[in-house]
Order: sequence, then C-alpha cells, then structure tokens
Amino acid sequence: MIKTRFAPSPTGYLHVGGLRTALYSYLFAKKNEGKFVLRIEDTDRERYVADGIANILKSLYWAGVIPDEGVQRKENGDIYQTGDCGGSYIQSERLEIYKKHIDELVEKGHAYYCFCTGERLEELRQFQQLNKLPTGYDRHCRDISIEEAKKRIAAGEKYVVRMKMPLTGETVFFDEVKGEVRIKNELVDDQVLLKSDGFPTYHLAVVVDDHYMGITHIIRGDEWISSVPKHINLYKMFGWEAPKMAHLPLLLNSDKSKLSKRQGDVSVEDYRKKGYLPEAMINFVVFLGWNPGDEREIFTLEELTKEFSLEKIGKSGAVFNLEKLDWYNSQYISKLNEKELVNLTVPFILSSGVMTEKQLSGKEEWLVKALNLEKGRVNTLVELAQSIGFLLQVPDYQKELLVWKKGSLEEVKKVLPELKELLNNFSVQEFESKNLQEKIGEWITEKGYSNGSVLWPMRVALSGMEKSPPPFEIAEVLGKEETVSRIELAIAKM
Ligand code: GLU
Repeated sequence: MIKTRFAPSPTGYLHVGGLRTALYSYLFAKKNEGKFVLRIEDTDRERYVADGIANILKSLYWAGVIPDEGVQRKENGDIYQTGDCGGSYIQSERLEIYKKHIDELVEKGHAYYCFCTGERLEELRQFQQLNKLPTGYDRHCRDISIEEAKKRIAAGEKYVVRMKMPLTGETVFFDEVKGEVRIKNELVDDQVLLKSDGFPTYHLAVVVDDHYMGITHIIRGDEWISSVPKHINLYKMFGWEAPKMAHLPLLLNSDKSKLSKRQGDVSVEDYRKKGYLPEAMINFVVFLGWNPGDEREIFTLEELTKEFSLEKIGKSGAVFNLEKLDWYNSQYISKLNEKELVNLTVPFILSSGVMTEKQLSGKEEWLVKALNLEKGRVNTLVELAQSIGFLLQVPDYQKELLVWKKGSLEEVKKVLPELKELLNNFSVQEFESKNLQEKIGEWITEKGYSNGSVLWPMRVALSGMEKSPPPFEIAEVLGKEETVSRIELAIAKM
C-alpha cells in the first residue's frame, strides 16, 4: 500500500510551504488509495514551541488535509494517535527506538562516538574558513576504538554519535521530480546521529521512522534534497530499502527571491484570520509547483485527489502570487450559498466590530441581503464583513462627491429633491431592486435626464462612497425609510 507522510517540526505555525507538502502527500496517497500519515518531528528541543503541535493540526484540519494515521485531532481540539508503528508518532516519545538503532550502528562499525568539544569544532571551522577549505567535520574521532570510547564515556566525557560516511565512491539516487542525483561520498559530512542531550538528530530519526511507519513515498520541500545522501547511506547500513522520494520546487516571492518566513505572513493561520477560505487556499497552494496540464484552474480537494500526479510537478521554483490567491478567494466567496455566507462571515463581522451580537440578532434576512450585495465585490471575508458597514451608517462624505463627472452641483440640487419625491411615492413593498431600476429608469427617460446625472448622486447619497454596488440594490437593502432619509441628508449637505 502507498503511504506518504507529513512530518512537521512544531516550531510555531503551519506555513504555506508546509501546507503544500502536506497537501501533495495527502493527494498522492488518496489518488493511490493509500494512507497519509502525520508524524511530529520534535527532536530539536531548542526550537520547540508549546502549542506547536496543536497549531499545525488546527490548520491542517481547517484546510481539509486530514491524516489517516499518526497524530490526529478530535473535534474539540484534543490530540490522539492511531496506527501501529511500534510506538508513538511523536519523535520525542520514541527515544528508546532511536537509541537502540544508534547502538546497532555503532556495534556494526557504521557509527562512532565523537568527543570533540564545541570549542574544537569552532576552531576547526574558523581554520577552514580562513584557508578557504570546505567547512565540515574532519572525522577526528572516527578511528577511536569502541573500547576506548566506552572508557571515556564511563569517565564522564561528553559525546555525540556520528555516522561513518563511506569515504570513497558516490551515492546515487533517483528523485521523482528532479531525476537522478549523484554526489561524491567524500563531500558528505559524518553527520551527528545522537546529540549530547540524548536526542537523536533529524537525520537518524527520519530514516528510522519512515522505515517503521512503512512510508513508501517521501514528498517534501527542496531544502531536504541535500540530506538525502546521508539518509540513503543510513538505509544501507540498516539493510533497509529506501522509500521513493520527490522534492518539491522552491517557493519564490514575485521578485524570484526565496520565500522567507519574515517576508509578510506565510502562516496558514494568518490567511484564515484574514478571511481566506480553505477551498481557495487549497486551490492556490496546489498550483505552487503542480498543474493539471491544461487550462483548468478551479479544483476542489476531491477533484484533486483524482487529478494529482507526481509527474506534473514542475522542476523550477513556484512563484507565490498573492493576487492569484485573492482571485481564488473571490471566486469561492461569490459561490457561497446563503447559509455558508452568513455562518462564515458573522465571526468576522463581530471581530472587526462592524456589528455586535445584539445588533445582529433578528437581522438574519437583512444580513443575507447585505452579504449578497457585496459578495461578488470582495477578496476576503474580512473585506466582506467590513463592506456592509455603510449599510448600517452612511459614511461622512463631501458634497462634491455627489457630482457626477459630467454633471454640476446645480443639477444635483435640482435632481435629488425630485428623486426623493418619486421614491416617497413608492410603497415599502415596491422597494425591490428590479422594480426600482425599471421605475426610476422610466422616470429618467420621461424627464429627459441622463442616467449618470441621477444614478451617480443617488448612489453616492445611499453609500457615501465613490465606489459601491448599484443604487437600486443598495436601496432594496436599506428599505424605503432609510433610503429616503439618506437622500434627505444629501440634500441637506447642499
Ligand atoms: N521535520 C522536517 C520539517 O519540519 C521534515 C523533513 C522531512 O519531511 O523529512 O520540515
């Protein structure tokens, strides 16, 4: 069975790049009726963040990228695990397993104890830099015998365990995206496998875990490809078969620089908070390095599980274009049905202070109309929430705004009172967008006015803004009383 995994380190939040790795791994597993595993790689205790695991799970579940095995999340946020990999799927709870495997490597002569102090390593690095030599460990402790090493350990000396990279030959592997990769073994460091704090390094843990968790395909970011030679050699030392691997293209800013965590917000949670929909996020993220090979752009997660393939992943960097994300989001927002629209937007209406819970109660019908009015005009749910503010209270505006580009203040002074009369004569029931459009249209023709000279000041009087939805639609949401009173306010401004 095909098995993929996402193996984040809980150092903060889930980043967009992480979501892409998780998504591709998820899609590849689903497409092949396999399983998608979530493992937590928390052996770097210096970078550990208390809520890290919860944050990552929350974002993954929000996006719908839900693991079948490993670390999972209940509706109430509680974390649990399923699966049988001989222990936990959280690396800090698997220390015994790593220890056993490190001992095995030492016994077989594939790894050695290293007693070099931080000071010595620092001096070495400075020497290498000064002499323009490649930096790296000089394998100083590689030939210390096990007996001597054990004596030094018993005497209380601090140590790490390093792998014995072969000193000659090449490591060759095939990457599903990049093709064949070759590297001279002498260029690869004797990687630390066990740190002095008793924790394994990523390199040891990742190999042991991918093996015991039955991972068949490793899909992850490009930055890990340089570690693969170490991993391939570890697989060989253990006598295991290495999984297939696919390394995803780098994510780039629009200026083609590497997308860094510092440049703007790149955490999935930030996008959620700004009112991006998970569907838009998924659709945007899947195109960062993959495409279906034709012109189609809109895909649901389910459709993607049928379409996705590793062959269509590109080799070159994928540009992170926020305008595209906005476009996707606006597409998905405009397709929301009334119930979704209300349920999804209310939290943003409350959090941005547009309305209080009390103001909202009993106004469900009004809210649906208001949101429908704006849903085709915004990029995010935050924008949508804020966009209805003018329906509650007309923003202050200058009287000059009432003047259409081809009109004059005099004309507005004449037209608005007449328009008010007309509106006053309609019944409350007649305040329906289509009807108003028809009747006001007829009236404009009768009077011999131009559309702009009436509809521009009407729209500004109702919205207080230079840009807004059409006046008839606003009038329907405002209702007769408020519409007339806003026209009166405009008249009073002049
Ligand atoms: N723990 C690594 C990370 O946070 C995972 C690397 C891998 O997938 O092997 O990116």
